[in-house]
Amino acid sequence: MQQQVTFPSGTVDYLFQSSFEDLWQTYDKEHTVIITNEQIAKIYARLFKGVKLLVIPPGENSKDLYTISSLAKQLLELQATRKTLLIGVGGGVVTDIVGLLASVYMRGVAFGFVPTTLLGMVDAAVGGKNGVNSGMYKNIIGTITQPRFILYDCRFLDTLPDDEWSNGFAEIIKYACIFDAEMFDELSGHNLSYYKDGGDDALNGLIKKCVDWKNKTVQEDEKETGIRKLLNFGHTAAHAIENLYELPHGKAVGIGMVIACMVSAEVAGLDKNVTEQLKTMLAQYHLPARFKFNAAKAMEILKMDKKRVDDMIDYIVLEKPGHAAIRALPFNTIENALTAYESSN
Ligand code: ADP
Ligand code: ZN
Repeated sequence: MQQQVTFPSGTVDYLFQSSFEDLWQTYDKEHTVIITNEQIAKIYARLFKGVKLLVIPPGENSKDLYTISSLAKQLLELQATRKTLLIGVGGGVVTDIVGLLASVYMRGVAFGFVPTTLLGMVDAAVGGKNGVNSGMYKNIIGTITQPRFILYDCRFLDTLPDDEWSNGFAEIIKYACIFDAEMFDELSGHNLSYYKDGGDDALNGLIKKCVDWKNKTVQEDEKETGIRKLLNFGHTAAHAIENLYELPHGKAVGIGMVIACMVSAEVAGLDKNVTEQLKTMLAQYHLPARFKFNAAKAMEILKMDKKRVDDMIDYIVLEKPGHAAIRALPFNTIENALTAYESSN
């Protein structure tokens, strides 16, 4: 199934339920360079035969300007020109790097993504944001540039570790909270193994819904001046916790969403039962609803957040499942929720 989506900065072909090999019906191997990480290069070596391949070490540590510079040198050695297509095959680390590299190599070359993680499929590869980290600052150097295509081949998920499945579900649950009460109920009624082991139809349906929600939001507000901010639901506290503890993004987002629900119950009239429902749902997708962290330290980090204006912070609250809103909240409202969460564990 193919769908074209037009954003202010470009049109993207979404190639759902496709096979990696389908690429070669449209693109010519001669003018393509695939960029992936060591793990994927090894597991899927057979798919990359006869294509120029650049490989980076897996993990967040690769997300820096050094990698961009090193890949640019390797592209020059391969004699890549403005006509070369770069394809990023991997999770969010790979697609973030390839999006930025393609945006600046020779002032911009065409690129496409083949996300191999669930989180990449529903979130990281979608929406045109790319970037690398500088020191402790995440995604601080980047652009918003849309790929030419995103190809979905769910066979990659056969080798995805369980933890990575959960990370993807944190973002899926996030979309349900913000936009889609029906999806919230659907997710509540099932669990990880239903989607992971229960055939592709349920999973494909879920992926498509998430991508549609994200695209709709990004079409309206590609540069994140308004409605795109809703996608940060659960992410304010998550980023603070991730900064302090070695915790996968999805787990941190799960905890962040619980805290955001607690804040929402205080300031946006969210029914307290929704927080409990969310905690149960997180457990169904093997995500922790409880985590011991230092609320005072988390608050210090939070005060350095990009979204801060004086002593207020733009925070995403839920009014009810499927309905989110942006609120400027004073720091102490968030601090109270962090402290309440900490002491409830
Ligand atoms: P990357 O972009 O380097 O894949 P991520 O943090 O997004 O980084 O991916 C998380 C981890 O999952 C990485 O170690 C990556 O190598 C691994 N991974 C990604 N996709 C797959 C897959 N389909 N099968 C097995 N491991 C994968
Ligand atoms: Zn996220």
